Amino acid sequence: MTTENRWNNAISKAADINGEQSARYLGEGRFLIISASDPDNGAYEVRLTASDAATPATTCSCPAGEHGFPCWHQATALLMAGYADAPEPVVEPDVAARPDAAAIGAFLSNPQAIFNA
Ligand SMILES: [Zn+2]
Repeated sequence: MTTENRWNNAISKAADINGEQSARYLGEGRFLIISASDPDNGAYEVRLTASDAATPATTCSCPAGEHGFPCWHQATALLMAGYADAPEPVVEPDVAARPDAAAIGAFLSNPQAIFNA
C-alpha cells in the first residue's frame, strides 16, 4: 500500500468514525486519541508540528505511527487543528520508538552480529 493510499484511508476512517469525538487536545500541539479497537484501555498521543502553515508533521504513538505510517489518529489531529483539506503530512516515526544512537552504532560496527545472536 502506498503512503498516499494509507493517508487517504486514514482520512476516510477519521471521518467515518467521527474521530474528533475520541480526541482531546492537550495543548502545545499534543492530542490524546482514544483507541477505536480498545477504547477501555487504549489511547495514543499524536504530536503535531509544522515548519510552516502548509506543511504539518505528525507523530503518533500507535503501532502504525511508530513505523512512520499514517493513521486515523494523526488524521483526526490534523482535521482538529484546522487543516481542513487534511494535506498529506510528513509522518515521522515516533522518536521514542527509534533505536538509540548507541544501538545503531553497535549495529553499524558489527552488522553480522544480529545474525549470530
Ligand atoms: Zn496512530
